Amino acid sequence: MARYIGPVCKLCRREGAKLFLKGTKCITESCPMTKRPYAPGEHGKRSFKPSYYSQQLREKQKVKRIYGVLERQFRRYFSLADRSKEVTGKVLTQLLERRLDNVIFRLLFALSRAQARQIVRHGFVFVNGRRVNIPSYLVKPDDKIEIKGADNIKKMIKENIEVNSKNRSVVAWLFQDKDNLKGEVLRMPEREDISLPINEQLIVELYSK
Ligand code: SF4
Repeated sequence: MARYIGPVCKLCRREGAKLFLKGTKCITESCPMTKRPYAPGEHGKRSFKPSYYSQQLREKQKVKRIYGVLERQFRRYFSLADRSKEVTGKVLTQLLERRLDNVIFRLLFALSRAQARQIVRHGFVFVNGRRVNIPSYLVKPDDKIEIKGADNIKKMIKENIEVNSKNRSVVAWLFQDKDNLKGEVLRMPEREDISLPINEQLIVELYSK
């Protein structure tokens, strides 16, 4: 599956918000959003009033970048959400949250979603006893997640938990067993569990044109 491999801090500056794509660097003074909180490029500092369409587009780009999803896959999530009987924006955010790479990040096993994706791709994640190396795999309530691998992998994950615990906690819809590097999906994520500064309604309006 394709993924963005360019400089990620530029993405934060482009969106004018900290997207926390770089792990520990994001919470230090060296975060470029602290020093240069304007869009990259020659005209980055120019201020202008964005049109409503531009706001919708930026919101969509921001969410895609937070979750590390490219356009085609994001559209697929939207069409799944749109076909559901529930509120489209809510289902869209649920689909993104239920991705296995996001779950590994939310369980504090990884410093960033990009690192979580790598942990999954390298085959260290087991769901209900079976190895799953697909970052976009969607977890569901009662799924049991476990990290298996060599001692150095387990050591790295435990160190990640230590670092992450200082800045964030495990979300309410997941259970973390940090000693055994296990987790469980307690229920579906609700909108209030997703503490991200996103306005999914703008995305729904953009795709519904
Ligand atoms: Fe964004 Fe993190 Fe880079 Fe700061 S350090 S600009 S929050 S990715």
